[in-house]
Amino acid sequence: MGRCTTRSTRRHIGAVLAAVLLAPLVIGLAADQGGDQFLDGIGETALVARYLLGGNAEDSSRNHLHATLHGSGAAYVEDPRFGRVLELAGNGSYVQLPGNALAGEDAISVAGWLYLPTGGSGPVFDFGQSASTRLFASVGATGGFSAGFAAGGARGGTEPGPVPVNRWVHLAVVLDPANRLLTTYLDGARAGQAANVGVTAAQLVSQAAADANRLFLGRSHDEGGSTLHGRLRDVRVYRVVLTGAQVAAINSAASARQGGRGRGGTPAPEISTAAIPRESPSAARLERVPDIQAETIVGRLPRLPREIPAVYRDGAPGPKVRVIWPAPKDNLQVAAPGAYTVRGTVPGTPFEPNATVTVKPAGKAGPAPARTVESFALGRVVLNQDTKGRDTPFIRNRDKFIKGLAAANPDSFLYNFRDAFGQPQPAGATQLGGWDNQTTRLRGHASGHYLSAIAQAYASTTYDEALRANFLQKMNYLIDTLHDLSQKSGRPATGGGPSNGDPTQVPPGTGRAGYDSNLRAGAIRTDYWNWGKGFISAYPPDQFIMLEKGATYGTQDTQIWAPYYTLHKILAGLLDCYEVGGNRKALEIAQGMGAWVNARLRALPAETRISMWSRYIAGEYGGMNEVMARLYRLTRDRQFLECAKLFDNVTVFFGNADHDHGLAANVDTIRGKHANQHIPQMTGALETFRSTGERPYYDIADNFWDIATNGYMYAIGGVAGARTPNNAECFTAEPDSLWEHGFASGGQNETCCTYNLLKLDRQLFMYDQTAKYMDHYELGLYNHILASVAEDDPGNTYHVPLNPGAQKRFGNADMSGFTCCNGTALESHTKLQDSIYFRSADDRTLYVNLFVPSTLDWAERHVVVRQRTDFPYADTTRLVIEGSGAFDLKIRVPRWATGGFFVSINGRVQAQTAVPGSYLTLRRTWRPNDTIDLRIPFTFYLAPVMDQPNVASIFYGPVLLAAEESAPRSDWRPVTLDAGDLAKSVTGDPATLRFAIDGVPFKPFFETYGRHSVYLHVRLR
Ligand SMILES: [Zn+2]
Repeated sequence: MGRCTTRSTRRHIGAVLAAVLLAPLVIGLAADQGGDQFLDGIGETALVARYLLGGNAEDSSRNHLHATLHGSGAAYVEDPRFGRVLELAGNGSYVQLPGNALAGEDAISVAGWLYLPTGGSGPVFDFGQSASTRLFASVGATGGFSAGFAAGGARGGTEPGPVPVNRWVHLAVVLDPANRLLTTYLDGARAGQAANVGVTAAQLVSQAAADANRLFLGRSHDEGGSTLHGRLRDVRVYRVVLTGAQVAAINSAASARQGGRGRGGTPAPEISTAAIPRESPSAARLERVPDIQAETIVGRLPRLPREIPAVYRDGAPGPKVRVIWPAPKDNLQVAAPGAYTVRGTVPGTPFEPNATVTVKPAGKAGPAPARTVESFALGRVVLNQDTKGRDTPFIRNRDKFIKGLAAANPDSFLYNFRDAFGQPQPAGATQLGGWDNQTTRLRGHASGHYLSAIAQAYASTTYDEALRANFLQKMNYLIDTLHDLSQKSGRPATGGGPSNGDPTQVPPGTGRAGYDSNLRAGAIRTDYWNWGKGFISAYPPDQFIMLEKGATYGTQDTQIWAPYYTLHKILAGLLDCYEVGGNRKALEIAQGMGAWVNARLRALPAETRISMWSRYIAGEYGGMNEVMARLYRLTRDRQFLECAKLFDNVTVFFGNADHDHGLAANVDTIRGKHANQHIPQMTGALETFRSTGERPYYDIADNFWDIATNGYMYAIGGVAGARTPNNAECFTAEPDSLWEHGFASGGQNETCCTYNLLKLDRQLFMYDQTAKYMDHYELGLYNHILASVAEDDPGNTYHVPLNPGAQKRFGNADMSGFTCCNGTALESHTKLQDSIYFRSADDRTLYVNLFVPSTLDWAERHVVVRQRTDFPYADTTRLVIEGSGAFDLKIRVPRWATGGFFVSINGRVQAQTAVPGSYLTLRRTWRPNDTIDLRIPFTFYLAPVMDQPNVASIFYGPVLLAAEESAPRSDWRPVTLDAGDLAKSVTGDPATLRFAIDGVPFKPFFETYGRHSVYLHVRLR
């Protein structure tokens, strides 16, 4: 989901220049945004909760971790500096945060304002489980401010420092486990520091038992529970280690304004890079990196090769080298026929190869790509156990989710819909938490994912009729309920009552002057008869209308979250219930809402839509273009295809309103952008192409894929994790710069992004059967999607942190409180089998893409294929054909298969030339029980960060290996490897995928639940 930064460099040159003297880059961005997502230069993904305490104890961050005020001695009082503030009288009143607020975090920073009257003192905060397990800060009766910790018998803290009374002071406490420091700040300056602090936030706050956590503001865990006598305002809790500069920025920002914003900055890397040379280990062996020639046509930037063959000294063999080419921000270089030269760099070497690009006239466009390959229905492919009768990682993860989905109560997922329509809740219905609680303006998003998951689970569980019946019953119940609600919209509540059926004429709520996003119980508008026919959502139509009128993202009633993002989930869920689950009523609901959307959007000027779709988060629309094009494909009603194009993100797709460049011209318009806001727009562009045949839409998706997977991708196959801009959900500010800009302290690789990239892989593959798409699919499936689930339950990741010594954080094990990634996880794990096999549309070719034990029912050919394997715990697989006929079997030869690819049919070795990163075709008339044996020897290989050749991940075949760590790290895990043959440096057992390097244990990242390092500081010997 979206929260990071879009930026329009040209518009903000002035702001950026002005900012350079203060803080490079970030001020320009922050000034651009509005809202709190980049508050004081710190990306909102780093913020756990923010309590303004200006009249209530609500959390004004996106997480809605609302706190509770306890005791009778507290009051919100007028204050000359901040307006209303919370006053605690020291007589037992305090604030309590939800117990799950900090569960599973590694670091904690707390910052806030305190006012002590003469004689005032007491605890400021105390987070933990008891007096022996906690992190706390207090002002002692004699006036000293200090922070302390206790855990497992260890105790410590900072020296007390004086706190002035009768004025506001800004306090901050930062627990930095990687550097073993606990630091206090007073008015932006460091006040105290304790070293050798051997405690992490995860030890203090239980992830497994959130109920055991007691997180207090103004109260102590000490016996007697002493409470604060003083005033509090704007207390923020962060999940990252705030730097001194950031603390100072928060302090000075609030000093300089009331509600304004101050300077921030790109933080320096927290992880030491000092010991890591920039020089490539192969620099000394390189003799020359040759220049290259490339071609393109007018208007379209060329695709220059990221890797080119190099010449090594004395004619020695060696790998291709990674070249970083300039990435222009427009296509002026290719405006006319001719030739030009650009110079690349080879990171860590002095070599600068030239590329001479010939620009040819555009000429006549070639034929548009054709969709010649189709997937199999989910129920036609069943996952099997391995050859030893063990559940595979795929089966284990599938079953965690299937079990959770079968047990979940559909009424929880209908709760907010009934609430929006003012309908009673059935007995036992409970509201979801997370981003679906009463007041969250994204509520309903999880219900959309749930609809998709239930449809997929129904379609997939052909192996268990009882489960299938459970999911069918759930799906029908959900759709019947939503259908009834959608029928109410725009129709009189009672015979002869008032109503408005026109989507463009929705009035403000009864008795309100305008539109608002107030969803509080008792305040939410429920006059569905005024909403226009066809409307369905888990909140009233106001957020959609406010977006048209310019509303920004935020948590005030005048602000919105992302109405079309939520709607995309709901519509996609409905279409999945129809297309995958066969429920006809679901399509009717989607048609009604699709027409509602089209009616509103087509009435808007183009400039308004461009403004909406480029508005940070507020205009995040998921894949609305995709569901609209899909709705057209399923109904042939042209209004939906026209509506799909109304969602064109013009500046990203086409550069500007004149369609001068953009992704359609292979210009990188995604730099610094929120990754997950934009990836679904690409699958939407491709779906638009599918029905229109308009080539630019194909090029947008295809060029995006090329740019994202080459210029912005991490080892696990995911994207996003920027330090510049400082937001873990963004692409880095420039391509090919993960080392320079890409390791945010808040984490990397939002799991939704990889879910969406895999969708894009599949859909592009259906047009173009080059192996690169399924190579990426395998990479992301094994090393991110499989790796994103908790060991024993369906808890799953949001970001996957790839910093050294980090650990995954799993949420939503009980399916009761969803983030965006908890939502896409429901979908990913109910369709794990969907890309193992594909068929050509003419049923003459079967593609085998993945080596997963499974049974395929190719009903069109009356052929069943059984794949038996222990892969990846073995490097072999066997395919047995049941049935007969002449067809091509195309088997993916993975790009990592550099150790050979061996095929035998019915025991007879086949003389085949298999090229890594291609498909091997086996053409014959197949007979019953024909058996194909494949052996693909795994090798160890390094995948370096593109701009730092000495930092790399290590793979064994398709499997990313992670170093197991016992503590947070402040440096990159060093390893020394044999330069000629990595295997000489590794011991272990391929059958268990457990290895060791330099005495450090390594195992698959998809089996890693503790601390890990997936990027290593590599020295070669
Ligand atoms: Zn997400």
